[in-house]
Amino acid sequence: MKTALIYTDAYMDYDYGPMHPLKVIRLKLTYELIKAYGLLNLPSVQCIPTIPAREEDLTLFHTKDYIAILKMASEGHLGREAYAYGLGPGDNPIFPGLFHWSLLVTGATLQAVDFVAGRKGEVAFNIAGGLHHAMPSRASGFCYTNDPVIGILKLVKQGMKVAYLDLDAHHGDGVQQAFYETDQVLTISLHESGDSLFPGTGFEYETGRGKGEGFSVNLPFPAYTDDENYLWAFDEIVPDLIEYFSPDIVVTQLGVDTFENDPLTHLHLSIYGFEKIIRRIKALAPRWVALGGGGYESSNVARAWTLVWAVMNGVELEEKLPSDYIAFASRHGLQERSLRGDSPTNRSDDRIQREIRMELERIVHYLRWTVLPKIRR
Ligand code: ZN
Repeated sequence: MKTALIYTDAYMDYDYGPMHPLKVIRLKLTYELIKAYGLLNLPSVQCIPTIPAREEDLTLFHTKDYIAILKMASEGHLGREAYAYGLGPGDNPIFPGLFHWSLLVTGATLQAVDFVAGRKGEVAFNIAGGLHHAMPSRASGFCYTNDPVIGILKLVKQGMKVAYLDLDAHHGDGVQQAFYETDQVLTISLHESGDSLFPGTGFEYETGRGKGEGFSVNLPFPAYTDDENYLWAFDEIVPDLIEYFSPDIVVTQLGVDTFENDPLTHLHLSIYGFEKIIRRIKALAPRWVALGGGGYESSNVARAWTLVWAVMNGVELEEKLPSDYIAFASRHGLQERSLRGDSPTNRSDDRIQREIRMELERIVHYLRWTVLPKIRR
């Protein structure tokens, strides 16, 4: 089993701004924790420096107009016309070099795809990727270019069947839209319900169109869903979907903004529940391209994605964090102690969890009757 981590310190040259929740430092923290645990020195591991995507790679999904606008914005030559493309103060700020930042993120996804599709190894992880909200001619939800879509399109062009599994707290709307009418890509998004969270889509009845009918799957979770309910619903539907679809490659978006202490969302997952899901994915996906995603509490991101990398490489980590990392994290204002942190405190009210289970039973039942038979045929 060979694995690749795609990474460069050049990510640190970009900054969404001091008030923006997406902190690029979380990528450096993740890399440093992986390194401090010795997980880059395993014989099976390659750490591949990120190479930016080419502009023509972006045109696989994005319009030429939008790419030109992104370049102008990146160089500071853009005024009010930016708003029409989703750019400006707020979610998708115009910061210096945002075009090159997007080329780096997308390039790393393409490298991960090439590594697995080219049979150089079985698993590749681009921790900077997973920017699943970007639309063909619009920035959205902190995402300027949609690296999951562009990566999957490269695989589709090679005739491969791809299952895309999105764990981010937010619905993977850009990816769903890109593949809504095809049966060559199965998109599965598990997320907080659009009733309580951006982007307000991803309901169970969004199941695809035309040839793609049944190949778009959404499992919306009510706010406050805990590990037990999340895992129950995952097990009820995801393994069967992937088994029946039988993809050549699984692409995952591993956002960790589902955690109880994430400042932007309302799900109540713990790192323990997340780790269980990752172990299930590893069993379901012998060929696996993993992308990062949301996660607005930097400590969670570094510890959770380090655990992902350990699971990918079949390594059990000591609970005690390496002292090098504790020192590095403290220079960035994080007081870190242990890998998984304290035991889960995410047991919310039992009555609320019982109500959530009833809602999830209804959704799972609906999905098993509507989408599963279409994929099984
Ligand atoms: Zn998110």
